[in-house]
Amino acid sequence: MSQLETKIRPPENSSHSGRSGPEELVPSRYAVQVGDIEVLIISDGVLPLPTKMLGHNAAEADRAAWLGDMFLPQDAFDWALNVVLVRSGGQTILVDAGLGLDPDLNLPRAGQLIKRLEAAGIDLGSVTDVVLTHMHMDHIGGLLVDGVKERLRPDLRIHAAAAEAKFWEAPDFSHVAMPPGFPDALRATAKRFLAEYGSHLRLFDDEYELAPGVIVRRTGGHTPGHSVVRLASRGEKLTFAGDAVFAVGFEHPDWFNGFEHDPEEAARVRINLLRELAANGEQLVATHLPFPSVGRVAVDGDSFRWVPVFWDY
Ligand SMILES: [Zn+2]
Repeated sequence: MSQLETKIRPPENSSHSGRSGPEELVPSRYAVQVGDIEVLIISDGVLPLPTKMLGHNAAEADRAAWLGDMFLPQDAFDWALNVVLVRSGGQTILVDAGLGLDPDLNLPRAGQLIKRLEAAGIDLGSVTDVVLTHMHMDHIGGLLVDGVKERLRPDLRIHAAAAEAKFWEAPDFSHVAMPPGFPDALRATAKRFLAEYGSHLRLFDDEYELAPGVIVRRTGGHTPGHSVVRLASRGEKLTFAGDAVFAVGFEHPDWFNGFEHDPEEAARVRINLLRELAANGEQLVATHLPFPSVGRVAVDGDSFRWVPVFWDY
């Protein structure tokens, strides 16, 4: 980890210090209404990762050009880490769970979800359902933090694609390009998650409506069971895309992200989803887009453009 450690900046202000509540300098939650469905986007923090992860099939000069155009540093890139809480039909649904405890990878600025849920007045015991877009540790780790399971309902339902649970029985890492240490940490975290929460799992094949207007749909690509959550109510729509789309994916949808287990399929999934969202104008939120990550997609020549919504205070 030494190579990465040198690239990680220490916490800079109170917004990154792990504290929550009124003393946080930057707000960590943002609410959106989709018809009758309430959506709360909560930041789990940020993950600094080497910039090669943005597109390991791209030429170094092209990556450098994109980072330069975005006024971003060339060495490490802070990935946002967004989690979504959805309320519909009396159910309270947590979509993904953030990183949780740092699994020896020196990622101290992530893993804020539990305290930020508390700061938002969300009791863990009120969560009726969890949806997992996939079982990478930055999406399941929050449930493995000490004391969390005891505070969750004993009848909590955790929805995931059957293909995802099967994949982690013998995961294939032959097409990824992750920093050292990550594959072992991902394997170990998924294994521990399945052991601790296996009895809560409600597996679906391709699509499942778990609450009124709340549909989880398997896309594959990023992982075989990767899924997106599509919300629709009273003519309004919002898609939580998980890891189907990254910040660089609008301009360069064909760049392979280092965490994609089937990068070619992941690029096809991304392009199809972006085309669909550009055509229907629905709102998009994704795990690793800059917080609060609410926007729309426009077509821009052969690629796409991210159009953030104007914040509604
Ligand atoms: Zn992720």
